Amino acid sequence: MNAEEKINQLRTQLREHNYNYYVEDNPTISDYDFDVLLKELQALEAAHPEFDNPNSPTHRVGGQVTKNFETVPHEFRMYSLDNSYSKEDLEDWEKRVKKMVDGDVHYTCELKYDGASMSLTYENGTLVRAVTRGDGFQGDNVTTNVKTIKSVPLQLKGDYPAKFEIRGEIVLPFEGFTKMNIERVANGEEPYRNPRNTASGSLKLQDSAEVAKRPLACLLYNLKGNNLPVATQFECLEKARHWGFKVPEVAKLAKSIDEVLEFVNYWDVHRHELPYETDGVVVKVNNLQQQEELGYTAKAPRWAMAYKFKAEQVSTKLEQITYQVGRTGAITPVANLQPVELAGTIVKRASLHNADQIEKLDIREGDTVYVEKGGEIIPKIIGVDFAERDPNSQLTQYITECPECNTPLTRTEGDAKHFCPNEEGCPPQIIGRIQHYISRKAMDIEGLGGETVALLVTNGLIHNYADLYTLTAEQLIPLERMAEKSAENLVAGVEASRNIPFERVLFGLGIRYVGETVAKKLAKHFKSIDALAAASFEELISVDEIGDRIAESVVEFFTSEEHKETINRLKEYGVQLKLSEAALANQTDTLAGNIFVVSGVFHKVTRTELKKLIEDNGGKVSSSISSKTNYVVAGDSMGPSKRTKAEGLGVEIISEDAFLGML
Ligand code: AMP
Ligand code: ZN
Repeated sequence: MNAEEKINQLRTQLREHNYNYYVEDNPTISDYDFDVLLKELQALEAAHPEFDNPNSPTHRVGGQVTKNFETVPHEFRMYSLDNSYSKEDLEDWEKRVKKMVDGDVHYTCELKYDGASMSLTYENGTLVRAVTRGDGFQGDNVTTNVKTIKSVPLQLKGDYPAKFEIRGEIVLPFEGFTKMNIERVANGEEPYRNPRNTASGSLKLQDSAEVAKRPLACLLYNLKGNNLPVATQFECLEKARHWGFKVPEVAKLAKSIDEVLEFVNYWDVHRHELPYETDGVVVKVNNLQQQEELGYTAKAPRWAMAYKFKAEQVSTKLEQITYQVGRTGAITPVANLQPVELAGTIVKRASLHNADQIEKLDIREGDTVYVEKGGEIIPKIIGVDFAERDPNSQLTQYITECPECNTPLTRTEGDAKHFCPNEEGCPPQIIGRIQHYISRKAMDIEGLGGETVALLVTNGLIHNYADLYTLTAEQLIPLERMAEKSAENLVAGVEASRNIPFERVLFGLGIRYVGETVAKKLAKHFKSIDALAAASFEELISVDEIGDRIAESVVEFFTSEEHKETINRLKEYGVQLKLSEAALANQTDTLAGNIFVVSGVFHKVTRTELKKLIEDNGGKVSSSISSKTNYVVAGDSMGPSKRTKAEGLGVEIISEDAFLGML
């Protein structure tokens, strides 16, 4: 046997042993023998660098260092999941699903693993890329680190497709987590808080050899790609298992929501026997064709639903209620608690939401309260232990004046929150608005952080975000902890923000209810701040996904003289207040005024591309057929009930080709 053959033989053997140990949990050789084989391979590879292969098992030990993780776009967006908490929620979801698809609906039930989500791309059976979820549109390329996770196959087996993505969760099993913490404490270091954060933190370590030491596992559950050889989610799981992935055995095919609930009830109790953390069940419409029909909302698939297990609860003493003022002036009461451990973290504070909530639960300072950790990061108080209440305790008097600027608070009909109306003079509002403007998803100003903003405001150097553009290094240097270099960086960062595209500037303006997605929609539709400022309430609500509340808020924002002046100043400073030529170049008005519904499977373009084409050419996409619909673009196997509905309403049904012909 020559060196190349020997190398290949060793690689195959080691792969098989890795698989048996980490995927099947069923080792067939001792750790010692494994190491002997690995060392032999390492020696041969060192002697014959010409046979190097990035997917050799020797690369699992890590050693490569990544300084900055490259940001890469996801070919398929990584969505979030909608949550449900009761049988009724699930039944409501089923009703919505059955309205949109034809035929029987079956469900795959899986556990919801609590780790860091991950998308792996395989080409010709080898791992080429591993990317974190990031914001769903783009994530960090962590391939080097992921390669050290032993249950991630570097080379697949069987009849895998030429190219596909597989998604799942990187988790840190309890046992490994505890071991890491024992070592840390022994070394005089702070223990890690919980397995999930430790898992996602591990992926961003610069030294892959450090990652290799951590007992991470990768559980996979979702295939993505074009023309995959599968028709159902359950089949995806089976195929992926055959190709060598670690796909959790815990999954069930359910024919009804009642069967889904059996799975939920069983695992609500038995999940504590699993080696890693889970926080619910994910229910997915099994048929992939039906999934296509259902599609996505702005945030999550319509074909899946997370069912959250009842959260853990603890009781502790509420020491004091304090009040926070947000950037919009909204007041949030905060419970300051006697520190208590809950689901692996120490909790000191909890949100009390608003005055109604405090009144409804009759929460008082000094009470013993029940704290629960739901889906949100901030825990919430769900009730009071009245048996423990001090007979002298006082009913909570909600504040009537702003704790920061003493302005009397206002509360409008229908608003749950109190507001401080002193927009121009209330420090946390002034600071908060600028902090929002410079934040990562808005103007992402390098060299400027939230604390510096506060410092600049309290020193009277800036009062609103337009003032940032007048700052000079000379003004900044005298400030505390501001070196010459940082002052220059700050000014350069502000300068560079002039190139940030309009949609992000619009988000940065901080118009109430205009989040990232809404800002994108509005920018795309109105194309410039002037057109948006001139839009009436009616024009605004006619835009897809813009409701009354957003429309009202936008109109109100642009009636303020102060806002108008600030925007004029931003314009003078060269900030992007309209879509760039490049963004406009791909857009036409060809389909203006027409509402489309898209249904079925297409050949020349994907469904997502088709929807984008409609929007880029001025049309609107709607998810359900109504009398307002102008066209249904029908692909293969469009659902018969949709067809009947379209025909009944006299809506024109056109083919993919006919649609493309319209452009
Ligand atoms: P959330 O971030 O709470 O909206 O939940 C969505 C996330 O749940 C996904 O991005 C996945 O990372 C995670 N997840 C865990 N287990 C599953 C599963 N079996 N199927 C789909 N998503 C899952
Ligand atoms: Zn105030």
